[in-house]
Amino acid sequence: MKTDTIVLGAGIVGTSIALNLALSGAKVTLIDRRGPGEETSYGNAGLVERASIYPVAFPHDLKAITDIVLKRNPAANYHWTALPVLARWMYAYWRASSPEGILHYARTIANLLALSLAEHERLAGAAGAMHYFREGGWLKLYRTEAGLDRERSEFPLARQYGLTPREITIEESLALEPHLRPIFRGAVLWSDPHSVSSPGGVTKAYAEYFRKLGGTIVQADARALAPIPGGWRAVTKDGGVDGANAVVALGPWAPDVLRSLGLRLPLAVKRGYHMHYAAGAGASLSRPVLDEEGGYVITPVEQGIRLTTGVEFARRDAHKTPVQLNWTEPLARELFPLGPRLESEPWMGSRPAFPDMLPVVGPAPGRPGLWLAIGHQHLGFTLGPVTGRLIAEMMSGATPFTDPTPFAATRFR
Ligand SMILES: Cc1cc2nc3c(=O)[nH]c(=O)nc-3n(C[C@H](O)[C@H](O)[C@H](O)COP(=O)(O)OP(=O)(O)OC[C@H]3O[C@@H](n4cnc5c(N)ncnc54)[C@H](O)[C@@H]3O)c2cc1C
Repeated sequence: MKTDTIVLGAGIVGTSIALNLALSGAKVTLIDRRGPGEETSYGNAGLVERASIYPVAFPHDLKAITDIVLKRNPAANYHWTALPVLARWMYAYWRASSPEGILHYARTIANLLALSLAEHERLAGAAGAMHYFREGGWLKLYRTEAGLDRERSEFPLARQYGLTPREITIEESLALEPHLRPIFRGAVLWSDPHSVSSPGGVTKAYAEYFRKLGGTIVQADARALAPIPGGWRAVTKDGGVDGANAVVALGPWAPDVLRSLGLRLPLAVKRGYHMHYAAGAGASLSRPVLDEEGGYVITPVEQGIRLTTGVEFARRDAHKTPVQLNWTEPLARELFPLGPRLESEPWMGSRPAFPDMLPVVGPAPGRPGLWLAIGHQHLGFTLGPVTGRLIAEMMSGATPFTDPTPFAATRFR
């Protein structure tokens, strides 16, 4: 089978790339071993987090580090056995989380975040997926004054980038979300982000629109990508797909394919869990709510109320250890009347993450015709469509809407 461009991976990133390329007239084949949007892009909290100028940084104060090491912070867990493998990556993450590192991150990611919502709306409007989207931002709740102070300290930088965080009273919070219990001391409403009721549904809608435009979706396990004269072959069980260009958008699985090409990038995973709950009798929620010190988000989705956990540092394929879910569920029940669990097994996904918290978007070094779009960590659902636009512009030779240099894979040389 022959195509112009092969896109490996039909998560939100790969699907948005395939769709952007198809919209510019290219013949594209999108390959995934599952259906579109059934892995990490299925189970996230569904925030188009347009306001995430501050990264999820590695803490620099001793108390916060000690709490994580001693497993006293429900937002973070780790496997002892993963630490030797992750040590170098963690050190680089810690370094990138310095005050200067955070400013560099903010300056860089702002260029993508600024268009993140508009690019979703462009694709969702054309794909008939706007019904998944809702305004209203998200609400961050603080159980302690110290937590609220930390949040306040982020306002000046956010405002510099045109964002509009607003500290609100407990009464105002309850007016927005009447079924929350007032167990918190303070709240901040971030109105700029939007959220969706089904991130997997959005990804599937974009894939369906891609198909309607003439794109091909192949369900196959693409374990290898091999250079061929004039292009690349995605090797599958039934032979392969040949294209002049190939884009690797395999999220946490990218190293499986890149390693055999001699491309070693410092990609690790930050695992996370979710569980769906029925809402208690008569209770409802209209937007995502973060319980900062509780270390979880609850958000209304098609399945019910989805509780997503913070970060687990572990090997990607290590067995599930949903300790954070068991820890945060009682905290969430204090805050909101959750009914019974709706699944017997928690869902687990892996945020693909580089230590500098920025994705890699651009050409693979020294491999003409091969492109990379990986490592969107906590913001993959937010940034999928804008990444799709950036890659499509770079591949077509058009002037990209932003300087892609900070996203180059060569920064890790
Ligand atoms: C708990 C949690 C909450 C989150 N909340 C948010 C949020 O609110 N907002 C936000 O923006 N981001 C959020 N994220 C992050 C976001 O979900 C990810 O960054 C994003 O989904 C990554 O998308 P992707 O397309 O790179 O990867 P994926 O969605 O994982 O897609 C990769 C695809 O590659 C396919 N694949 C793998 N190997 C092969 C192979 N050999 N052959 C063929 N196909 C293959 C997989 O089947 C998969 O479909 C959250 C993540 C987690 C875990």
